[in-house]
Amino acid sequence: MAKIAQDTVAGVFYSGKFEDGEVFDTNEGGEPLSFLVGHRQMISGFEEELIGAKVGDKRTFTLSPNRAYGERNEDLFQTVNKSVFGPNAPLEVGMSSYAQTENGGTTMFTITEIDGDDVTVDFNHVMAGKTLVFSVEVVDVRDATAEELSHGHAHGRGSGNNHSSKSESCGTGCGCH
Ligand code: ZN
Repeated sequence: MAKIAQDTVAGVFYSGKFEDGEVFDTNEGGEPLSFLVGHRQMISGFEEELIGAKVGDKRTFTLSPNRAYGERNEDLFQTVNKSVFGPNAPLEVGMSSYAQTENGGTTMFTITEIDGDDVTVDFNHVMAGKTLVFSVEVVDVRDATAEELSHGHAHGRGSGNNHSSKSESCGTGCGCH
């Protein structure tokens, strides 16, 4: 029976929780999630814990931040003048928004403090610094197609990628096209 390994496509149901038990993400009761293993589609620890699993296997594992979204980095806090947000921006502590990066991509930030005209923003990933507990059930394992390997992601049901040619947009923001 096929086992999850580099260059296979795995289909899973999963629930992700924080240490306090709060569920932050799950697809149970919906469609399985399909992903290409070993191509950075998923956080590294998630894939590592599933290597060798086969259809029907259930695994529960805890990922410390270094195997999930990374530690929080204090260098990713920045204080900027209110005016950079434009005259009509509704600024509020806790608000998240997107900023343009130098290379033309986007990055998410969260406002952590507003002091007069000084606005402190945090560019850490919202999941940075969190320990995550996953419960995963494997429902499909197959070899990836040559096309999936060239794109660097799974195609078909549950993958979020139903295009058939590389010229079509992925819609995943993976930057492979
Ligand atoms: Zn593709």
